[in-house]
Amino acid sequence: MRIAIVGCGQLSRMLALAGLPLGIKFSFIHDDLNQNQDCVAGLGIITPAPHKCATSNRYNDQDVEQLYQALGKPDCITVEKEQVDLALLQALAAFCAIYPSIAAIQACQHRGEEKQLLTRLAIPTSPYLYNASAQQAVQTLGYPVMVKSCTEGYDGKNQWLIKNLADAQQFDTLDIKDYIIEAFVDFDKEVSLIAVRHQNGQIEHYALTDNEHVQGMLTRSIAPAANITDELKLQAQHYMVSLLNKLDYVGVMAMECFVIGDKLMVNELAPRVHNSGHWTQLGSITCQFENHIRALAGLSLGSTAQIAPTGMLNIIGTERPPFAAIAENAKLYWYNKSVKPKRKLGHINFIADNSKILSQQMAQFSLDK
Ligand code: AMP
Repeated sequence: MRIAIVGCGQLSRMLALAGLPLGIKFSFIHDDLNQNQDCVAGLGIITPAPHKCATSNRYNDQDVEQLYQALGKPDCITVEKEQVDLALLQALAAFCAIYPSIAAIQACQHRGEEKQLLTRLAIPTSPYLYNASAQQAVQTLGYPVMVKSCTEGYDGKNQWLIKNLADAQQFDTLDIKDYIIEAFVDFDKEVSLIAVRHQNGQIEHYALTDNEHVQGMLTRSIAPAANITDELKLQAQHYMVSLLNKLDYVGVMAMECFVIGDKLMVNELAPRVHNSGHWTQLGSITCQFENHIRALAGLSLGSTAQIAPTGMLNIIGTERPPFAAIAENAKLYWYNKSVKPKRKLGHINFIADNSKILSQQMAQFSLDK
């Protein structure tokens, strides 16, 4: 069995590292020339994406067939990010299955379409307007509002917080296209749910995870999330099940939510393994990466049961692996990427007998740095 992944980043790396012990071979489509291939070097075949005809927005049939051959004729293709070229996936679909489906990736790669999907399924999300002027939007939504680019934004990039009339007027002078403006949510905290759906429709959920962001970027996750009632947990699982079934989804999906009192509001979906699920590498019987591979390969899903309280700290902008982090109950995962400001270069997972000790150990490491 061979699985090809679009992208050569850390998620591709960790998917391959989880799938290789199952006897699965990997190939990687290098579709972003700004990114080097160091993360996946040595883990399988790496092949550049072909060029696309700029006028027709299509790939040459022969180039796509050559790509499929060069990838080692994979049994299926998956993605490590939502911003992939759908035309390339459509062309490759002539040769093998694409998981999750192209429709699922399409729905999650555009914030406007994602909001429509959530609304159609009656899943709460913050009210929004599509491509309205900021001055119009604040009349409906009030201050503050967040502007988010529909396709280019991740880790808080391409987002603008509009707090007053001056901000709104300034935003309206910018030449920005394809964006949503959404009401700012005064949330109590942020959580995410990671789940996996098998080809046969079986769905398994991981524990809800507490997430902390700094300037829109995830810095720390802890699972299980604290002070979550059974009702809230079931609410999250119910939203996830309706999304996965609606999209006839295969693989791992992540759903990021705001908690407001005893209610959830979905902020964002990711049609892939997710940073807030990295803790599962140490804290679960089967991690998100292995379960994604199992679902794609048609193998039995592994248990998502949690072993003990687990936390994750992202390593951002540090030149060398922080070996001091390695401890009896802490593991380092270094991605082998070149250093750039605000770039995630690795993470550390911590596991402990109880949540109090876990928090102390994570706080201790943050202080030591
Ligand atoms: P996103 O790119 O949508 O995942 O946003 C990144 C982070 O920005 C979120 O995890 C929140 O911390 C914050 N954020 C995004 N949207 C909103 C909103 N509507 N109201 C308040 N905070 C938000």
